[in-house]
Amino acid sequence: SSVSAKSLTIGLIPADGIGREVIPAARQVLEALSSDIMPARLNFVDLDAGFEYFQKHGVALPEQTLAALKGDCDGALFGAVSSPSHKVAGYSSPIVGLRKQMDLYANVRPVISGAAATASGQKRAIDMLIIRENTECLYIKEEELHEGADGKYAIAKRRISEFASRRAGEMAFSMALQRDLMRQKVAASERTWKGRPKVTIVHKSNVLSVTDGLWRETVRGVYAGNAKYREGVDVEEQLVDSMVYRMFREPQAFDVVVAPNMYGDIISDGAAALVGSLGLVPSANVGDRFVVGEPVHGSAPDIAGQNIANPIAAIRSAAMLLERTGYASAALAIYRAVDKVLEAGQTKTPDLGGKSTTSEVTEAVCRLL
Ligand code: ATP
Ligand code: MG
Repeated sequence: SSVSAKSLTIGLIPADGIGREVIPAARQVLEALSSDIMPARLNFVDLDAGFEYFQKHGVALPEQTLAALKGDCDGALFGAVSSPSHKVAGYSSPIVGLRKQMDLYANVRPVISGAAATASGQKRAIDMLIIRENTECLYIKEEELHEGADGKYAIAKRRISEFASRRAGEMAFSMALQRDLMRQKVAASERTWKGRPKVTIVHKSNVLSVTDGLWRETVRGVYAGNAKYREGVDVEEQLVDSMVYRMFREPQAFDVVVAPNMYGDIISDGAAALVGSLGLVPSANVGDRFVVGEPVHGSAPDIAGQNIANPIAAIRSAAMLLERTGYASAALAIYRAVDKVLEAGQTKTPDLGGKSTTSEVTEAVCRLL
C-alpha cells in the first residue's frame, strides 16, 4: 500500500564533540518508534561536517554533505560544532552555511518545562515556542568604523524586509495552529495551554520605528490577511524589554513568540535559563522545504567522549524534525516519553544532578516507546 511504501530519509551530521554521542542517541530513539505511531520507514544517511573535519580536510561543510541533503534527505539532525577560540583562516561555521544553502529562514526553539515547573512551585508548566527570523536584522554584519572629530565611532546596519518578516510571520501563525492540533491529541487535563492559540510579536517600534515598524506591520498584515489565522489564533505585541521581564515573571503566559533575529537570539537564550540545563533544549532550523533539528548546546569539549552528555536536547530535536515533516503522533510519543523519564527522576545525567550515562537515559526513553 502507499502507506507502507512511505519513507523518511534523515541526514545525520554529528559533527564535533558530544554531537557524536547525542546524535546516535537520537537515532536510537527514532528507531525505537513502533510502526503504528511511525508509519514511514526511516532511512539514515551519515554525513560529515564540523571543525574537526575542517582541520583534517580544509572544509567544514563538504560538497558531498550538501549534495546528499539536497538530493536524498527529507530533513537532517545536526549535532554541534566546536567554535575555535581564535579566528581560523578559511573556516566558517557549517551550520550557518547549512542555513543559507537550504534556505532555513527561521530558528524554532520550544521552551518546555513540565516536571521542573511543578517542582519550583509554578502553577502551570512552561510550553512556549520561540520563532526567530534567521536571515537578516543585524546579522547582515554590515558594520563600519569611522574616525570623527571626537574620536572613533561605529555604525551597524540593520536590514528588515517585508519578504523575510512575512515568512517569519507565516511560520508563527501556522505553527500556532499546528500546535493546537497536537494539543488536541492530549487529554484536556494534561494540556499546558488551555486557551486559544496565541502569537506574541516582539519588537521595539517605539524606538526603531522604521525597521521594527516594518516588521510589526508586516507580521500583523499576515494575520489580517488570513481568515484561518484570525479565526484560530489570538495576537498580541510585546516590546522586547517588557518581553524579557514578562518571560521571567510569567513564562506560562506565552504560546508562540515571533521575533526579529537579534531579539530572538537574546530571548531564546534567556528562555533556556528558565528550564535548567542546556542539555534539555532542542531547536529546529526550518524552511519551506527542509528542516534541520539541532540541540541548542555546543560541542561541550569538557565532557565529550565520556558518555555523560545529556541526550535529551538532541532527542527532542529529532521529535521536532518529525513534527515538521508531518509525523506529529510520533513526535508527541517522543516528547511524552522524555517527559516521563524526567518526571520519574531516576535516570538523569550529571548536568541534572544524576549519575546516569547518555546510553542509560537513551535506553530509558526507548523503553517507554
Ligand atoms: P562550544 O564552543 O561548542 O559552544 P562550549 O564549551 O561553549 O562549546 P557548550 O556546549 O556551549 O560548550 O556548553 C556549555 C556548558 O554546558 C559546558 O560546561 C557543557 O559541559 C554543558 N553542556 C552543554 N551541553 C550539555 C549536554 N548535552 N549535557 C550535559 N552538559 C552539557
Ligand atoms: Mg557554547
